[in-house]
Amino acid sequence: MYKLSYENTNNIPVFKCDYCGSCSGILESTCHVKGKIRGCCWYFPKYNLIDIKNILDGGHKSFIYKLLNMKNAHINKYCIDVNGEFHEEDYLKYKRETMEEDYDFDSKLFYKICPFNTQKGCNLDFNLRPHPCNLYLCREIIKLSGDEYNKYSKERKDYFAYCNYYDELLKDHLIENKINLTTSPYECIDLIEGIDIPKFEYRTLESIDFTSGDDILAG
Ligand code: SF4
Ligand code: SF4
Repeated sequence: MYKLSYENTNNIPVFKCDYCGSCSGILESTCHVKGKIRGCCWYFPKYNLIDIKNILDGGHKSFIYKLLNMKNAHINKYCIDVNGEFHEEDYLKYKRETMEEDYDFDSKLFYKICPFNTQKGCNLDFNLRPHPCNLYLCREIIKLSGDEYNKYSKERKDYFAYCNYYDELLKDHLIENKINLTTSPYECIDLIEGIDIPKFEYRTLESIDFTSGDDILAG
């Protein structure tokens, strides 16, 4: 039996699933990079202004400074992208040699690895990750959770809507002050830190117990 649960700390909601880390054979966790196991962490993190705000409010300003100085970070006007590994040659070889299945997503992800991924999982604490990471679940877990997942899905959508709204608001503040992360990152960070925004009104959700497909077969 496995458990999916929900927590919110410092305005950062997290879905926690104890099946993660022991999953195998799940499409999203497929990694064709030799010797690498990365779960579904193929994502290249994007830190929006709302993520930066949450991290600042959590007292982790030094982490934002670290992001700004990472060699693989790209500082856009209103977000920070952190690039990971993409094994392009291997991907092109795979495309040439394989009769690729008709996936409804970009199969490049089989050759991508997030820069914060380690063989033990993510090396960032939940409160330092961009918000999509903390509310991501693969289709397998969603399916195994059944109808009970609907309330989790609603919570996720509501938090994403909250993030979009306040991200725009923070952007407007930067525009009004004629600054952006590319030209004046430290000034932007100080400004964002000083802006008050309401916290997300999260729900209390019951945890969901589920059995994996493998357990059902074994039983
Ligand atoms: S969300 Fe799914 S694919 Fe990703 S680590 Fe969890 S069980 Fe594995
Ligand atoms: S930041 Fe962490 S959780 Fe998000 S994709 Fe990277 S390794 Fe995974």
